[in-house]
Amino acid sequence: MTATSAAAKPESATTAPMIRLRNVRKVYRTGGREFVAISDVTMDIAEGDMVSLVGPSGCGKSTLLKILAGLHDADEGEVVIGNARSAFVPGRDVGMVFQQALLLKWRTILENVTLPAEILRLPLGQARERARNLLAMVGLAGFEDKYPYELSGGMQQRAAIARALVHDPKLILMDEPFGALDALTREKMNLEMLRIWQESRKTIIFVTHSIQEAVFLGSRCAVLTAGPARMADSFDIDLPLPRNLNVKTTEAFGRYTQRIYDLLGM
Ligand code: ADP
Repeated sequence: MTATSAAAKPESATTAPMIRLRNVRKVYRTGGREFVAISDVTMDIAEGDMVSLVGPSGCGKSTLLKILAGLHDADEGEVVIGNARSAFVPGRDVGMVFQQALLLKWRTILENVTLPAEILRLPLGQARERARNLLAMVGLAGFEDKYPYELSGGMQQRAAIARALVHDPKLILMDEPFGALDALTREKMNLEMLRIWQESRKTIIFVTHSIQEAVFLGSRCAVLTAGPARMADSFDIDLPLPRNLNVKTTEAFGRYTQRIYDLLGM
């Protein structure tokens, strides 16, 4: 089954979700053996949501991101991305951020950020202009002509976020984007990420192993059970925006983290 665009469907533009997953199942077949990576995932994601995807290692989170990115097909179930108000073009409308920044070491930071636009053959002058603005947004103004080795890990990850946004995709998928950073840099990046999300107004889905990060960043949280993945629960995180680190000391924050621990049986 392939992810489809819902542009032609007669759904209400105001109520239709940006992503609709129904009973999604994914089986890997290698060497004549079958491995069920995702057994049953159902959820809706609204346009502009920041969804944290939490679950034990190996439960199928990356597989779900790959299905949403169009890199894998689901074996069963329904995957609909886009709605009547906002058509979705697979490939063109997705930006990805991984645990490692994966910058090309022979390209400058600006040239790294414009790479997706080059691959998609978008006008280069506009892409450079947009890349400069995005680098300023992620706090890297002045680093356009540096090479990756001249930047810290956190700065490289900021450049990777700018690169994911350069072709103005509707959906950003992030797979443990801050997992390789030290604890302090990670907290700083969390704050930056909230600001970037609010400024860019993108729909973002990010995988994290940190329950605190899931609550701090998410407008919505989806909790997956141990593999094969099933949806344990998904719920809104109604903590006020903009958030700062003080929110972590509030009772409401504690209730959300406890809810996730309970769902994970911890
Ligand atoms: P997570 O991101 O939650 O750690 P993954 O989605 O990477 O989990 O993987 C889910 C399960 O599927 C794991 O047990 C993994 O070993 C298996 N898996 C992932 N990719 C493949 C593949 N290409 N072929 C076979 N098994 C795979």
